[in-house]
Amino acid sequence: MRLKVLVDLPRHSPLDPLLDYLAPEAWPAGTLVRVPLGRREVCGIVWGPGDELASPDGEGGAVVLREIAQALDALPPLGEAWRRLAAFAATYYQRSLGEVALGALPPDLRELDATQLVRRLRRGDKLDREAAKAAQAASAEASPVPEPSDEQREALAQLAAMPPGPVLLFGATGSGKTEVYLREAARVLEAGGQVLVLVPEINLTPQLEARLAARFPGRRLVSLHSGLTPAQRLQGWLAAHRGRADLVLGTRMAIFASLPRLGLIVVDEEHDPSYKQQEGARYSARDLAVWRGRAEGVPVLLGSATPSLESWHNALPAAEGGAGRYRRLDMPARIGGGALPRVRTVDLARIAAQFGKRAVYSQPLAPPLLEAMRERLARGEQSLVLLNRRGYAPVLHCTSCGWKSDCAHCSAWRVFHRSDRTLRCHHCGFSERVPFACPSCGDPDLQPMGRGTERLEEQIAELLPGARIGRIDADTTRHKGSLESQLAQVHDGEIDVLVGTQMVAKGHDFRRMTLVAAVQADAALFSSDFRAPERLFALLMQAGGRAGRDAELAGRSEIWLQTWHAAHPLYAALRRHDYPAFAAAQLLERESAAMPPYAFQALLRAEARSQQAACDFLETVSAATLDWPEAAEVLIFPPVPAPIQRVADVERAQMLLEASSRQALHRLLARWQPVLAQSAARTGEARVLRWALDVDPLAI
Ligand code: ADP
Ligand code: ZN
Ligand code: ZN
Repeated sequence: MRLKVLVDLPRHSPLDPLLDYLAPEAWPAGTLVRVPLGRREVCGIVWGPGDELASPDGEGGAVVLREIAQALDALPPLGEAWRRLAAFAATYYQRSLGEVALGALPPDLRELDATQLVRRLRRGDKLDREAAKAAQAASAEASPVPEPSDEQREALAQLAAMPPGPVLLFGATGSGKTEVYLREAARVLEAGGQVLVLVPEINLTPQLEARLAARFPGRRLVSLHSGLTPAQRLQGWLAAHRGRADLVLGTRMAIFASLPRLGLIVVDEEHDPSYKQQEGARYSARDLAVWRGRAEGVPVLLGSATPSLESWHNALPAAEGGAGRYRRLDMPARIGGGALPRVRTVDLARIAAQFGKRAVYSQPLAPPLLEAMRERLARGEQSLVLLNRRGYAPVLHCTSCGWKSDCAHCSAWRVFHRSDRTLRCHHCGFSERVPFACPSCGDPDLQPMGRGTERLEEQIAELLPGARIGRIDADTTRHKGSLESQLAQVHDGEIDVLVGTQMVAKGHDFRRMTLVAAVQADAALFSSDFRAPERLFALLMQAGGRAGRDAELAGRSEIWLQTWHAAHPLYAALRRHDYPAFAAAQLLERESAAMPPYAFQALLRAEARSQQAACDFLETVSAATLDWPEAAEVLIFPPVPAPIQRVADVERAQMLLEASSRQALHRLLARWQPVLAQSAARTGEARVLRWALDVDPLAI
């Protein structure tokens, strides 16, 4: 008997990833198997019956079919719903099915043979028994369920009355969205379902994990994210797949968890860009969650205080110009009636008129902001100063000849890090000690230009003598556990002023923090990234929302913005906490510029030794579509150099595709994919070419 087996073939292989194998038994679709492939033995998934009609084995020069080496049939097969999800993701994101489906399994699982699997399953049984034992012992200690607020009651009543489908839970920070997730989860668990909760980042998991565990002490909760050991990840995955875990909490990868009793998907902070996988098979876990919910007939809760414009548009009724695809539930008030932080803008133009421009440029904090921080210090409260640029200064330059610290391998500056006196490229990692004198003219007077978090920390220390200053960015959190210990310091009140990049703004509940300041907010207004204003708005609302959840402290909470454009509508909307007005203005701009969500995009990126080779490839594949009917409704832009054109001596170019309908774009992509692979293979041999297609790219 023959079976079709899905394997993960190297990328762009001309072979179909579904291969026919001989099998002694008719294992059902979804069974994991080990099959010979070339000289190796690899993990595969039975995908269905083979082609019995193909030419008989061995006769007339036909290929001799190889046999399945082993079936891992101690494991229940991967269900049909799971297989359909993998197939959809592969088609939609234009990747091979084998790469997506096998890539979604825990890496350890793909290495096991049948005997090892049985051992792992036994270990799982033991873990399950232990978890069960811990849950009898603990069930009395379930955390108290608060009486729902009026808004929560209304939201829950509406949810109960709705047919399953995607719902945007639009609620202010601290409005009790998590409590709504917990109540929905309780309902689904009661009915025997499994609940999948997605969060943007690993370091946000402990808080929510503790809350879930406290609310559902009798339930088995597993987490799935890249911070786990391979063995932990395997056991978590197995518990979910065998239906033994009731709650699965994870980052974007968890959207591919096998959940035979799935009853609810929650996507917390749905606007967060971390839901997009940016390498390899690029997918949006948020969008896949919506698809999966539809396919499996289960509700999907997308929660945010500042939804992505895509979700907002989807949840806006058609009568208001929206797509009307999702339902929306609003919870504008904070629990306990706490006030939202007051937003204060520092008009740098006015300060410059008063004290001169030099004063503004040389000081990171304008006088009124500094005064507000001094008040916090005096009251024993904390301040957070946000700057999205790490290092001491983005460039070092020579005052005599104008030399700048560029990177020899990238079209980018090397950043000056004062702590270890290095010039470091943030793109390729190339790092050197700061030279004693200008490498071009020998003048020793090298000066930093601009300001990064290291320098900001130093300047604030001068401005606020005696204050305990902390800094959290990618440089200070490189070592495992360092982020956690620094966050703990902030929580324990050992820090008065925290300087940080956006990584501190998300999810952390700093109770004594009553001031959040963005010192260079304007950067987002003039960014080439059309999503930058949306990110800024979300960042400030999130960061400000964390400040002082304590009702008394909340009354004193402030968000400070330093800007040269105080009248900008984005800041005006921010001052009023008016996300709907901000979204309406942004959507109007997007519509008139035919940008997402009014257009659907795909970005084809190419990398080669020379910019010419990368562009040639893009031009060739663009030209191939000239007389295709599938290309009629798709706008293919000319190839351009990528925003950072050269990284690690590799030249990068890209080409944007845009269509007003998703279907039109996908019709073209489906026909295009083999052309891309063939053209790349042809060019590639001579000139080393790599390409990647990004469907629904976040940045273009
Ligand atoms: P969000 O997820 O919208 O930021 P949370 O669900 O975390 O909000 O709620 C904010 C705070 O209010 C939490 O400390 C939570 O325990 C508390 N809370 C939520 N709902 C209620 C309620 N109905 N009664 C009392 N406290 C509540
Ligand atoms: Zn010089
Ligand atoms: Zn570099």
